[in-house]
Amino acid sequence: MTTPTVGEHPHGFDDLVAANKRYAISFPHGFDGIAHQGVLILTCMDSRLEPLEMFGLRVGEAKILRTAGGRLTQPALAAMVMGVHKLKVNRILIVPHTLCAAASSTEAQLRDSISELSGVDAHGFTFGVDPDQMGRLREDVETVRTQPLIGPFAEVGGFLYNVETGLVDRIC
Ligand SMILES: [Zn+2]
Repeated sequence: MTTPTVGEHPHGFDDLVAANKRYAISFPHGFDGIAHQGVLILTCMDSRLEPLEMFGLRVGEAKILRTAGGRLTQPALAAMVMGVHKLKVNRILIVPHTLCAAASSTEAQLRDSISELSGVDAHGFTFGVDPDQMGRLREDVETVRTQPLIGPFAEVGGFLYNVETGLVDRIC
């Protein structure tokens, strides 16, 4: 095996594709695309989070949207509207978490940091991070609640997931 260059993984995607073949052996066939518990969860991409499991849900029961920090983005909002009107979503949970990297620096600090780490100028890039995690959560929940295509059709709640205990607290 040759030494990988920067940006290449020694396995490429081979280990993942091999794992998929094992997964497909016991694949649970027969689901449609409906959220059967009416649930949509917007949460962080953090690898410690299990969005279905944390709420006792299983495959087929919920829509999951993940962004850095669980922040609301325009594509996430569009997906919520589709979920509500096409896929039977009637409960939307926005769930950021404790010890989140997306809430540990300002936009300027993250731009500086990634520019320094990569050697590539990242100052024109928008990451959407913000240390005021609870302020952003309240703002995002309000944006979804007041969206005319969502507010009258679905309940919207803001929660904080504690990565050290596994518990969620209702914030708003
Ligand atoms: Zn996070």
